[in-house]
Amino acid sequence: MRATDIIAAKVREGGRVDRAEALELYLHAPTALLAQLADEIRARKHPDRVVTYIIDRNVNYTNVCVARCNFCAFYRPVGSAEGYVLGFEEIFRKIDETIALGGGQLLLQGGHNPDLPLEWYVDLFTAIKARYPQFKLHALSPPEVIHLTRMSRLSVAQVIERLVAAGLDSIPGGGAEILVDRVRKILNCYNKASAGEWLDVMRHAHRAGLRTTATMMYGHVETPEERLEHMVRLRDLQDEMGGFTAFITWSYQPEHTELGGVEATGVEYLRTLATARLVLDNFDNVQASWVTQGGKVGQLSLAFGANDMGSVMIEENVVRAAGAAYCMDEIEIVRNIETAGFIPKRRNMHYEILGDPICLQRDVPRMLELAVARHDGDSSRPPEIVNYAARSAAEKRVREADRPR
Ligand code: SF4
Repeated sequence: MRATDIIAAKVREGGRVDRAEALELYLHAPTALLAQLADEIRARKHPDRVVTYIIDRNVNYTNVCVARCNFCAFYRPVGSAEGYVLGFEEIFRKIDETIALGGGQLLLQGGHNPDLPLEWYVDLFTAIKARYPQFKLHALSPPEVIHLTRMSRLSVAQVIERLVAAGLDSIPGGGAEILVDRVRKILNCYNKASAGEWLDVMRHAHRAGLRTTATMMYGHVETPEERLEHMVRLRDLQDEMGGFTAFITWSYQPEHTELGGVEATGVEYLRTLATARLVLDNFDNVQASWVTQGGKVGQLSLAFGANDMGSVMIEENVVRAAGAAYCMDEIEIVRNIETAGFIPKRRNMHYEILGDPICLQRDVPRMLELAVARHDGDSSRPPEIVNYAARSAAEKRVREADRPR
C-alpha cells in the first residue's frame, strides 16, 4: 500500500493527520484523492449540502501604510499624493449602499497610518453604531491591532477592550500571510506582526469573546513545509481557544508589487485548499476565494472542501491593486452554488443562516463590477480629520493649515 493510501484511510476513519502526513498527501496524493478526502470531511461537517455566503463590503479606510510589505500593491507611503483616509460621511454612504443590497456588515481594514490615533477608530465605530445599531463591524486584522498598541502604548487586551466598547463585533484574519517568521522577514511583514504576535492577538480576541477568521496567503517565498506549519499553528490555537469561525486561503497576487513573481496555478490552489480542510479538522467552515481565483475555480472549490462562497463583497481594493478584478454579485454566486449541486443560503459572520438568497425573493440590481474606496482623482480630505493628532511631520503641517480659525 502506498503511503498516501495509508494516510487517506486514517483520514477516512476520522483520524487527525500530523504535519508530515499532511505534507505527504499535499505533495504526492493524486488531486482527485485530495478532493475526495476534503469533500468527505465537508460532507461530515455539513451533511445538509448547504453552501453559505455573506453580503458585505470590504472597505479600506486608508491606504497610507508604514509597514511596506513587499507583496502589497495597495499601500501608499506617508505623504503620497495618492494616499487617502475615508471620512465618516463617506463610510456612512457605503453602509447605506450595503444595507440597500441586503448586507449587514462591513469588513473594515486599512493601512498602518501613523496619523490615525486610536481615538479616530473609537469615534468612527461609535458613530457607526449610533447610526446603525444592528450593523456589524468585522474590523481590524491582528497587525492593525498591534499597530494601535504601538500608537497608543496600550496592551493588546486594552486596545481590544476599547474597540469592543466602541462597537467592534469580530476580527478578520488578515495579515497572517504565512505564520513562519523566516517567511515574514523575507516579505518584510515581520515587523508589522511576527507569527507569535499575530496568534497572540487572536488569542486575546477569543478570550474577549470575539469570533475571528483565519487566513493564509501562499505562493510567494514559502516552502510546502512552511504552508503546513502555518496550518498546524492555526489548528493548535483552535484547539486551545476554539474562536475561529472559518479558514480562507488565497494565492499571492504579484502584479504591481515590489516582490513580483508568478501567481500559483488553479490546481495548486485547489490542492492547498483541500489539504487545509484535512489539517484544520477543528474548523467548521472553509471559504472559497473566488476574488483571487475567479468564479470558475471558486465554484470548483466546493468539490475540494469549501462550504462557503465568501462574500458578495460589493467593494474591494487590495486584491484589485495587485491585478485581480473578478466580480460576482448575489445572482452569480447563487448560480455557481446551485449548479455545483448545493443549496445557497445567506449567513452572518457567525455562520448563522439568515435566509434564502435575496435575489430569489425579489429583483435586485445586477452588480457587474466591484466598487472602489474612492474614484480616481478624488483627493478630498475628511473634515473631521483635523480633530485628531497627527504624528508625521507632513500630515501635522497639513492639519494645522486645515484647522478652522
Ligand atoms: S499588506 Fe497591509 S500592512 Fe502590509 S503594506 Fe499593505 S496595507 Fe500595509
